[in-house]
Amino acid sequence: MERTLSIIKPDGVAKGLIGEVIKRFESHGLKVAALKMISMNKKQAEGFYDVHRQKSFFNSLTDFMSSGPCVVLILEGEGAIEKNRQLMGATDYTKADPGTIRADFASSIEQNIVHGSDGPETARYEIGYFFNALEIVR
Ligand code: GDP
Repeated sequence: MERTLSIIKPDGVAKGLIGEVIKRFESHGLKVAALKMISMNKKQAEGFYDVHRQKSFFNSLTDFMSSGPCVVLILEGEGAIEKNRQLMGATDYTKADPGTIRADFASSIEQNIVHGSDGPETARYEIGYFFNALEIVR
């Protein structure tokens, strides 16, 4: 079983989409193995998106990610990383496949409702960024 890290970003929480997003995960065979609501400060958001530190949108992205509460989840299932990425849709919602979370609900390339790990290494790092062993179901 593979695990991946998902975030319902501040725009998703503000739009009242927590239930809708989790329903999509669960109805496509992804199990919730951990879940909590958090509010990141600017430094915590910067740490999470450290790989994007050199990007032009880094400051704006980390402002956005620290602008309100997020829901962070660990999703578990066969091919969970790829399955989650498919359910999310492309980063740019205008290019996301119809029926994906981002195509249905995103409002800009930045405010795109969800985050999902993009590979096994990233998933391990990102899960460890938010969860300790006691918070993850066995
Ligand atoms: P993801 O893996 O699909 O989330 O995409 P990336 O890892 O490339 O980017 C991380 C996040 O940065 C995205 O989900 C967006 O919230 C934001 N982002 C990506 N590209 C842009 C951009 O060109 N402009 C802005 N403002 N934000 C962006």
